[in-house]
Amino acid sequence: MIIEPRIKGFLCTTAHPVGCEMDVKRQIEHVQSQGKLEPGPHKVLVIGASGGYGLASRISAAFGAGAATLGVFFERPASGKRTASPGWYKSAAFTRLAEEAGLYAKNVNGDAFSDDIKQTVIDAIKTDLGKVDMVIYSLAAPARTMPDGEQVRSTLKPIGSPFEGSSVDLNSGEIRPMTLEPANQQEVVDTVKVMGGDDWERWIAALLEADVLADGCITTNYTYLGSEVTWPIYYHGTIGKAKEDLDRAAAALVKPMAGVNGKAYVCVMKGLMTQAASAIPGMAIYLSLLFRVMKDQGTHEGCIEQTTRLFHEQLFSGGVLRVDDEGRIRMDELELDDSVQSRVKELWPQVTAGNLESISDFAGYREAFLNMHGFGFEGVDYAADADPDIDMKLI
Ligand code: NAD
Repeated sequence: MIIEPRIKGFLCTTAHPVGCEMDVKRQIEHVQSQGKLEPGPHKVLVIGASGGYGLASRISAAFGAGAATLGVFFERPASGKRTASPGWYKSAAFTRLAEEAGLYAKNVNGDAFSDDIKQTVIDAIKTDLGKVDMVIYSLAAPARTMPDGEQVRSTLKPIGSPFEGSSVDLNSGEIRPMTLEPANQQEVVDTVKVMGGDDWERWIAALLEADVLADGCITTNYTYLGSEVTWPIYYHGTIGKAKEDLDRAAAALVKPMAGVNGKAYVCVMKGLMTQAASAIPGMAIYLSLLFRVMKDQGTHEGCIEQTTRLFHEQLFSGGVLRVDDEGRIRMDELELDDSVQSRVKELWPQVTAGNLESISDFAGYREAFLNMHGFGFEGVDYAADADPDIDMKLI
């Protein structure tokens, strides 16, 4: 069938299998252009492996260091005329390309918060890999079923006072003012349950208990701090409380990880267009401005540039890690550079629907959104018939 983007609000309900494969190939090419990562990880578990930072980390490990990777994600295969989710197509493409390159790549599709999926992964590690030497936790989920069966949802809301911001219609570029009322205490608690460090700790406890973490194993989790412009909705909002909880969890993991001479790191990454980020109120304008300023300066990076640099310059450099006072690995130094932020802050109050295209890189933001779903790639014939039904072997 002919597959076209179908965009509603900040969602695109279709994905293109050939374009998603193109996305993965481009990421692989970037990793290969950076040279071999030596030493690097050998056997890597990626939780949240099918999109954004998790997929990029998987590609950096596999195609940079030749690592075997086991990916966990929650994605939807095609059914009838409905295409699969982008993460399905990208994981299928990654798996095929990794296998063609002689690399081990297997996948588990299911709820990473559940004990069942943790056990499935542990069994697969025991059978196929013995132990893993890196665990990348890169989950971004809207909801979680707690171990006692309670269902909780995460919210993206300010805390204390309302957030006055704007959303942008991806189709028309129309800017709509919006006001978000502050979260109540329960919403803060629930967001921390979904996006905080508790499930990361549970994964590590289960993996240690099963004795499947190798000596010297490292585990990472990703966070975002952003700048004053995004603090009201991000770092000072409900999601920020969850991110603070990652710092707590990393500290709490020091002792258990010491049992395998291992380390737990929170890595602060750049703000980028991913499935999760596209849902954050008000982020579209900030990211459009940021992309514009960073592209003008030649410092713009995508997920794959960030994770590959994280591996080369920090985690596996053998040198002293560039960390902040909280011990977090910083990869957001280019975004937070004074010259970038002062220009973004200058442009921020000037944005209107009339000048959005000219003063920001809204075109680049929209392109990143389309690319994320496999659309807008040169070299892909979107007028050609595409089979939406792409098979992927799952454990
Ligand atoms: P994403 O939406 O691109 O990827 C999320 C992943 O989680 C996908 O693989 C998805 O399948 C998986 N997932 C979601 N719910 C699941 C479940 N219940 N069980 C199994 N898998 C599930 O998100 P992303 O933006 O790459 O976010 C990953 C991490 O990076 C998050 O912690 C996020 O806060 C952080 N981060 C993102 C940005 C950004 O700008 N995008 C910046 C810094 C840090």
